[in-house]
Amino acid sequence: MNCRIGCSACCVAPSISSPIPGMPDGKPAGVRCIQLTDDNRCRIFGQPDRPTVCNNLRPSLEMCGTTDDQAFTYLAWLEQITRPALENHSHDEIHTKTS
Ligand code: SF4
Ligand code: SF4
Repeated sequence: MNCRIGCSACCVAPSISSPIPGMPDGKPAGVRCIQLTDDNRCRIFGQPDRPTVCNNLRPSLEMCGTTDDQAFTYLAWLEQITRPALENHSHDEIHTKTS
């Protein structure tokens, strides 16, 4: 299947641990990638500094569902069940230090 242009779920819902231009520590779950444009396209598509995880991600019915809401719900759930406990801790610490 093709990506629903403008959906943006996989650029917002999951955490990304590898560096993204402008986000050197990657991004936490639920945060818009800094490279996501206002119309929800990847600003660095096709460029060498786009994270490998983004290059490797392929749309699928399981992940993308048939609506943007379904994609957000699935990816948020996947993040919850795959996030290591230690990473949870780190996110809490980062949040405390920056708030
Ligand atoms: S979740 Fe699927 S449809 Fe939504 S932006 Fe990502 S690849 Fe495209
Ligand atoms: S780099 Fe591009 S594809 Fe990857 S999360 Fe950011 S906007 Fe999405």
